[in-house]
Amino acid sequence: MKIGILGAGQLARMIALAGYPLGLDFIVLDPSPDACAGKLAEQLIGEYDDETLLAQLAEISDVVTYEFENVPAQVAKFLNDRTHVYPPPKALQVGQDRLVEKSFFRDLGIPTPEFSVINSLEDLQSAVAGLGFPAILKTRRMGYDGKGQVLIKPETDLAEAWESVRGYDCILEAFVPFQREVSIIAARSVSGEVKFYPLSENRHKGGILRVAECKAGDPLQAQAEVYVSKLLIALDYVGVIALELFDVNGKLLANEFAPRVHNSGHWTIEGAETSQFENHLRAIMDWSLGSTAAVGKAAMVNFIGGLPKAEDALAIPDIHVHWYGKDPRKGRKVAHATVRSINDNRYRNALVELERLAQQTDDS
Ligand code: AMP
Repeated sequence: MKIGILGAGQLARMIALAGYPLGLDFIVLDPSPDACAGKLAEQLIGEYDDETLLAQLAEISDVVTYEFENVPAQVAKFLNDRTHVYPPPKALQVGQDRLVEKSFFRDLGIPTPEFSVINSLEDLQSAVAGLGFPAILKTRRMGYDGKGQVLIKPETDLAEAWESVRGYDCILEAFVPFQREVSIIAARSVSGEVKFYPLSENRHKGGILRVAECKAGDPLQAQAEVYVSKLLIALDYVGVIALELFDVNGKLLANEFAPRVHNSGHWTIEGAETSQFENHLRAIMDWSLGSTAAVGKAAMVNFIGGLPKAEDALAIPDIHVHWYGKDPRKGRKVAHATVRSINDNRYRNALVELERLAQQTDDS
């Protein structure tokens, strides 16, 4: 069986690495000739809307999946008319627009930060008066890792803020004074079998994820499972999904979801019985899902912009490294490492050392 993947970055690479032992084969489509998954799967090189290549991809693949959520709607439809596409294109349509996404959450009874639609400077002025300070102006589309966002404070010149997102439809969100950010990763198969991973507790800097820690037994696990279940059912979802949430005094508010495997779930490779990558494949193949139970304590640390020597990372006990084969460039995720240990002290010490190592080479 052959799986087609739109995109050939590290997520596609880790999907392929999980899939080969299951007897699956892969073909990836990506415009970049040196995309990192292209080193271990057949690659079609070209734009995502090249219909000749898309037709070829659909023809060769039993199932097509994707590693990024900004797949254009017409591309998903083109592929869906020719082969199975999972997660379903509806998840892309909802997830690509923050207004549609937040309204979808609200209609399902999933709490979100307060928000208003902003189409003009006048909208921004009246929304700020309603939501108060601070607030965050976000472009509705193409925002990720904190891109397309402006923090609105009492001293912010609203005309300037509006000018900086000129040409984009936006929403304004109340700033949430959260205690922590968490995400829940879940998988649902074609037949509707569902599994949830333990919550991840996530730390960001500059809008980019730095550390994700498995929190097995977290008191908010059940609440997160209720919310992500609502999404899975409403979207008739197939594959792995990640729902990002803010914890505000024990109440979860949904920030956004990603219809794909997610950076906050990379610890599952060593820290869970079955990784998110393997379960994504099992879900889209309609095979039984694997156990999502945690194996010891686990946390993942991203390497951004620069890389230490692999041997320096491996000198820390209980560390597993994942080099993506990408050239280091400012702000680029080039690798991650996971600490996994059954001993609390060893776990804590290794995580401190690993974070220190990541900070030394971090250029952002
Ligand atoms: P996003 O691109 O929406 O995931 O936002 C990137 C990061 O900005 C989040 O992980 C949060 O750390 C922060 N952020 C986004 N929205 C809010 C909010 N309404 N209140 C507080 N922080 C936020």
